[in-house]
Amino acid sequence: MADKKLPTVLLRAGEDRRVRSGHPWAFSNEILMDAETKAIPPGSLATLRAPGGEALGLVTFNPHSLIATRLLSSNPEAVVDALFFGRRLAQAMALRDRLIGVPFYRLIHAEADGLPGVIVDRFGDALAVQVNSLGMDKLTPVLLEALEAELSPKTIVLKNDSPVRALEGLTREVVVAKGELSGPIELLENGAKFTADLSGGQKTGWFYDQRDNRRFMAGLAKGAGVLDVFSYSGGFGVLAAKQGAKSVICIDRSQPALEAAKQAAALNGVEKIVSFEKSEAFEALEKLGAAGKKFDVVICDPPAFVKSRKDLKIGAQGYRKLVRLAAPLVARGGFFFVASCSHLVDPPLFAEQVRRGLRDASRNGRILLSSGAALDHPVHPALPETAYLKAMTLQLD
Ligand code: SAH
Repeated sequence: MADKKLPTVLLRAGEDRRVRSGHPWAFSNEILMDAETKAIPPGSLATLRAPGGEALGLVTFNPHSLIATRLLSSNPEAVVDALFFGRRLAQAMALRDRLIGVPFYRLIHAEADGLPGVIVDRFGDALAVQVNSLGMDKLTPVLLEALEAELSPKTIVLKNDSPVRALEGLTREVVVAKGELSGPIELLENGAKFTADLSGGQKTGWFYDQRDNRRFMAGLAKGAGVLDVFSYSGGFGVLAAKQGAKSVICIDRSQPALEAAKQAAALNGVEKIVSFEKSEAFEALEKLGAAGKKFDVVICDPPAFVKSRKDLKIGAQGYRKLVRLAAPLVARGGFFFVASCSHLVDPPLFAEQVRRGLRDASRNGRILLSSGAALDHPVHPALPETAYLKAMTLQLD
């Protein structure tokens, strides 16, 4: 696949500045959509060129997506094969092995790891892969070959069920591409055991992004009564119990998630400390509030309330409401953790909702920590807005 064989995608006059400055994307309105460009099969590899013809890099091209080109290599002559993918996998793996120490982590976090549109979560010798761009979808066989060469995993699940695939004209499907999946997979995090359902669970089956926040909160939870709302499989609550919390209540509306949390509690010998409640979170919070319950530590890690720009106002208010209902449950001097994984809610907007929610609840306190996703979720320097996870830990008076 040498340069000369690749089709050219030309930027319009004056539209090359951002790409030249290191941004990995060109948007569809920046591309010269002449007949030749329109004839390029969507998802093809292409050479991205400045208006004057200078090659700027090797990209995947999808004229039907708002993000029309995604940079694979700034070397327009690069050969995109299993070795190319393998080099990026090896580099990403070396970083994670250094950062995390156990083979349970996000191995590939898209652009930041040089593989735009690709997520790979590693669970020992099982991998959950999400491919979210048409160009990478077409390259899946090459990616699989590279994963085989670098890791020879026992199991690979293509968890291609993200709604964002629709933006690329892709269908949603879950396929076991290698090996067999006979049930949830065990994983180790912060010294505790959990399980993840790689094919039926939410996202890739586990949210590694909260690893460091879970450890931090567990550290605050020694001897504490803990409420873990939106608990999923117990990442916060079970770790807190294992590290010495007095009692933990996990609330989630998903029965399979709570089953996994129960299993995690048993795996860590804390089944007597952790209890589980299947409820709608806002209703459960209201009930606990009405009953005057107090907890030393309250953790709220909800799903994204804002999924598109048109939901921004209403969705952002969801965080305010969450804080208004959860803050009254925090004992005086206790700790409150609240997170948002809505990438459209930027840190100032999130902070504003937290401030207003506290005000609504007539609670004061102090922010101890504003944090984000764990280190195995790096961010491309030109895409700071993809740092989607925001979390705030407060002590409340
Ligand atoms: N805190 C978890 C991740 C939470 S993901 C961890 O550390 O891994 C969000 C969770 O919220 C999911 O488990 C989902 O089932 C649950 N959820 C979504 N909407 C809910 C609602 N309205 N009430 C209760 N749980 C909800």
